[in-house]
Amino acid sequence: MFAQFKTLPQLFDFFKNEEVCIAYWENVRWGGNITCPHCDSENPYKTNRGYKCRNIECQKKFTAIVGTIFENTKLPLRTWFGAIYLCANHKKGVSSLQLSRDLGIHQSNAWFLLHRIRETMAEQAPQALGGEGVVVEVDTTIVGGKTKTMNNKKRKSFKGDRNAAMANKTAVTGYIERGGAIRFDVVDPNENEPDMVRKHIDTESVLMTDTANTYVAVGKEYAAHESVDHSRNEYVRGHAHTNTIEGAFSHFDRMVMGTYHFVSPKHLQAYANECAYRYNTRKSLDPVRFEDTVLRCSGVRLKYKGLVGKS
Ligand SMILES: [Zn+2]
Repeated sequence: MFAQFKTLPQLFDFFKNEEVCIAYWENVRWGGNITCPHCDSENPYKTNRGYKCRNIECQKKFTAIVGTIFENTKLPLRTWFGAIYLCANHKKGVSSLQLSRDLGIHQSNAWFLLHRIRETMAEQAPQALGGEGVVVEVDTTIVGGKTKTMNNKKRKSFKGDRNAAMANKTAVTGYIERGGAIRFDVVDPNENEPDMVRKHIDTESVLMTDTANTYVAVGKEYAAHESVDHSRNEYVRGHAHTNTIEGAFSHFDRMVMGTYHFVSPKHLQAYANECAYRYNTRKSLDPVRFEDTVLRCSGVRLKYKGLVGKS
């Protein structure tokens, strides 16, 4: 645990100047064991602007931001930490326009910051979800403006041309453990859907889907497979339903359309990761989520226990 911030003013009071920020960041990154990012030698000496490696074969100069997401920007760490706090804790995300206003920086800088912060929110070594007795719901949705939610003018502009209406829309598959974690995967048309199910869900799990043909054969490989027939208006039958994943999709859709208005297919996976990260840390307190995101910037991970606020 490092410093804890319950509010943004507390955070900016603490990070009052760049020196404090750098000392904080050095502690997060190295914990007193200053290590050369070029050769991993632990014996540097301090210079006016940072450190210099003592290893004869290296002798490179470095600072604590070398090799991190903070590198190659002219923005002070104070701005970064403010951005991380806002990005990690806004329930529906924060747009680059909003962030640029909040922090008094140019929108292109805000956009760049948000993308880099988002990168840290991706799962590093994703394991299959579920396990013995765990129900995992799977469903696929279209993200980015369904025609039924468009205004009339825009919908009419497609004149029933389905391909035009589908342009700039991407399918996303969601996998969710009931009461547990979620993962979104942007659908690559070349991928085989049953293979994706195998990759993301442990076969000991109870698979819960709609009646799409895709799931019939792969479902037999699972401990159990139950489905509801949406085409017959069947949405819940006992504990058989896909309401959890549909709820998560609607949250994702609100984030993409409400906060970001438009997300290009190229970047959609990063936004999906951001949304999943926020869902998976939903029980964490804001200060813990800030700390976790900062640690992720240094490659260190908080233990799951710490993240879900049980510690
Ligand atoms: Zn070195």
